[in-house]
Amino acid sequence: MRPLPPLLALCSVSAAQAQQLPPLRFEHEEVTATVRFVSADRTGPLCGLYADRQASVGPGLYVNACTVKVGNTDTPTVIILPSPQSWRGSPEAYLRLMRHEIGHWSGWPGDHSNSGSVK
Ligand SMILES: [Zn+2]
Repeated sequence: MRPLPPLLALCSVSAAQAQQLPPLRFEHEEVTATVRFVSADRTGPLCGLYADRQASVGPGLYVNACTVKVGNTDTPTVIILPSPQSWRGSPEAYLRLMRHEIGHWSGWPGDHSNSGSVK
């Protein structure tokens, strides 16, 4: 049996943290990304599969999106977002959530600092 590749959530955050926008240098008008849309009630458990046990999300906080790397790569593999049909927040909050995760896809580090290389 082949071992599973290492999984890492670049960012697995609470709903409030997910509203933080990336520094402008990680935002681009055109991006090609792989996105998996799931029901909003599944993003937390799914992102939790990728997050290590020391993820920044505390007990009871709802994880509503994440950007994930699978295997030994510097490039993100997939963004996991709630499907628009299942989103219960405002359209503005959904837009900020997308910009947040696209920022990670574009190189914004998971610690939300302004370090990291733009992809
Ligand atoms: Zn983040």
